[in-house]
Amino acid sequence: MAKYTGPVCKLCRREDNKLFLKGSRCFTDKCSMDRRPYPPGQHGQRRSKISDYGVQLREKQKLKRIYGLKEKPMRNLFSKAMSMKGVTGDNMLGMLERRLDNVVYRIGFAASRSEARQLVKHNHFTINGLKTNIPSMLVDQNDVVELKARSKNSEKFKNAFEHNLSYKELPSWIEVDKNNFKGTIKDLPKSTDITSAVEARLVVELYSK
Ligand code: SF4
Repeated sequence: MAKYTGPVCKLCRREDNKLFLKGSRCFTDKCSMDRRPYPPGQHGQRRSKISDYGVQLREKQKLKRIYGLKEKPMRNLFSKAMSMKGVTGDNMLGMLERRLDNVVYRIGFAASRSEARQLVKHNHFTINGLKTNIPSMLVDQNDVVELKARSKNSEKFKNAFEHNLSYKELPSWIEVDKNNFKGTIKDLPKSTDITSAVEARLVVELYSK
């Protein structure tokens, strides 16, 4: 499937949920979901019945759009979550949260997950002092994600980091060291730590068919 390059606010309106894809704008009254809270398109304001399958499909699309994943990686993640101990839905959400691009976003280095993915690909971060440019890499407990020394001197990064931290809520499972531009994974994220607009159970039901 080709990469979606259209307006991301349309995705929120399509899913009838704030997916927080645009950084600080999502927290202002400029948010399209506040101004036009109905699906995009000519028939967006029509009421339509939605089947059980449709509800599951929408939840899956929502999850993919929040974390910016395509169908194949999402299915692979589901298979991995199935083979793990515990609740499959919680395992899926846990792995999505542990992705390096998500962690970079959560720490506040990037305004959105798509920006975080790009920064990771451009070699701006290290994990435990080692270079990495793989956004899908999963972090582990006690891992330290840090901005590279050269990037720390960039005014652009400093300003963006400060701005992102001014409106973001930091997750309890990451300890952020603002002065040294790094975050430590205190604990792996548990289902209670993940505030998600998605019912993972419905996604599991869809993929289990
Ligand atoms: Fe979604 Fe953010 Fe756009 Fe609001 S501003 S519609 S939350 S992407």
